[in-house]
Amino acid sequence: MIQRRRDLSRVHRMVVKIGSSLLADAQTGVRQARVERFANEIAALHAEGMEIVVVSSGAVALGCVHLGWVGRTLSVHEKQAAAAIGQPLLMHAWKEAFAGHGIGVAQMLLTRDDLRNRRRYLNASNTSETLFSAGVIPIVNENDTVVVREIKFGDNDNLGALAALLIDADLLAILTDVEALFDADPSVNTDARRLDLVEEVTPEIMDMAGEAGSDFGTGGMVSKLRAARIATRGGVVAAVISGHE
Ligand code: GLU
Repeated sequence: MIQRRRDLSRVHRMVVKIGSSLLADAQTGVRQARVERFANEIAALHAEGMEIVVVSSGAVALGCVHLGWVGRTLSVHEKQAAAAIGQPLLMHAWKEAFAGHGIGVAQMLLTRDDLRNRRRYLNASNTSETLFSAGVIPIVNENDTVVVREIKFGDNDNLGALAALLIDADLLAILTDVEALFDADPSVNTDARRLDLVEEVTPEIMDMAGEAGSDFGTGGMVSKLRAARIATRGGVVAAVISGHE
């Protein structure tokens, strides 16, 4: 069980999933200082020999900021176009942030279908293994320009879980803008109790997750718990962590 930072020494492979609202600001675009802070922490783990995949959301949000579309209701095609614009901005931010540590990054755009198809799954797996051997950090996102359902429900949490299974990770860390999982909504219920450890994602646990997301985040706690369920069933420990800490 991984409960403290020092327990990370037992983790050899990890997927870090970072939500859009942590990486993109509705006015200014990339939150570069924050990207750099994440890169610093990831680089420190990388230096200890951990192999890490970053699943980074933010393409649609950054594209919207670039186009002046924030706050608009977008069609699927507009979201796909926004993602096409935002994805290179996102990659640029990660590339710059890791360059300071002498670490290269690689872009891997995947869809759920890719990971369901055995041949493509093996190709993605071989690519990530080769990138690890090269000491490069794969930055994964959904291939948003070709998907419809996923972009609609904004589910990089799910992609994070699938990536964790793909690379046979020990840990899936989902960084988000909420503090933790509570047994009720803490913003309306002062008795809400924080759950620090969940042994199994049962239907009762799923019921505790509210639906609300933030401006840019589309998944909410429900999709995090679904991702945790997929990961843990595949033997991967999952952690939902505040990206502000
Ligand atoms: N792939 C989408 C993006 O980069 C995000 C999906 C999500 O928020 O889960 O904008």
